[in-house]
Amino acid sequence: MEKHLLSKSTFIRGNQCLKSLYLNKKRPFLRDRLSPEQLAKFKRGHRVGELAQQLFPGGTDLKPKSPSQYRKKVLETAQIILTDSYHTLYEPAFQYDRLLILLDILHKENGNWTAYEVKSSLHLSQTYLLDAAFQYYVITNQGILLKDFFLVYVNKDYDFSQSLDINKLFIKESVLDRVLELQNFIREQVIREKETLLLEKSPPIAVGPHCTIPYPCDFIGHCWKKIPKEDWPVRPKANEGFYDFLNQIPEIETKS
Ligand code: SF4
Repeated sequence: MEKHLLSKSTFIRGNQCLKSLYLNKKRPFLRDRLSPEQLAKFKRGHRVGELAQQLFPGGTDLKPKSPSQYRKKVLETAQIILTDSYHTLYEPAFQYDRLLILLDILHKENGNWTAYEVKSSLHLSQTYLLDAAFQYYVITNQGILLKDFFLVYVNKDYDFSQSLDINKLFIKESVLDRVLELQNFIREQVIREKETLLLEKSPPIAVGPHCTIPYPCDFIGHCWKKIPKEDWPVRPKANEGFYDFLNQIPEIETKS
């Protein structure tokens, strides 16, 4: 199995800006430093992901300890599915056409596999749909039939004064129809991104609103350096209300 060229996060990066994709792969040393705020955001995302695993308790954790384990985990996932040895997998790995993904949860019920991708967010966005569509593309092209694909996100109306009820804390929304509609786009975008990675120089893409939408790009310091600092894009502020909301989670005991 060849090493992957694109992962879910690099695919989403390339969809935002092909230059960012190229620089990330070929000139990673030009990246801006992660702010403490961004690091905290990643940690919160992981915590929400682990909590959502309780929606399907007793699963087998396939999370790779490091990128060097990706190949091993892809083979292990394929073996488990082939032998039907476990029915709930956390972070199973899939690879197709040098595209790698780690899904949050794969669960089998009544003989059918369903995919669940968890977002530490209070609502869905177009980027989350693209993320789901990319994962669906890789999993199904690897030969695994999916009955459905759900995005799982945090219920904004959840009442933390009650003991924790994981089934009420998370909303599961089927996005299969929208994911299917996006499959042609995914196929074409994968081609564009792979072609970009073959270039000898970064693509000539001017700075603009895409530098912060949907995410603040981490090459702003490089691309905007000739522009007066006062004109640099303002990074969107973290939604502190949402983080306060999430921070209530560990103070509450899980229902047995
Ligand atoms: S700063 Fe803007 S132009 Fe430069 S790589 Fe990022 S998104 Fe692309």
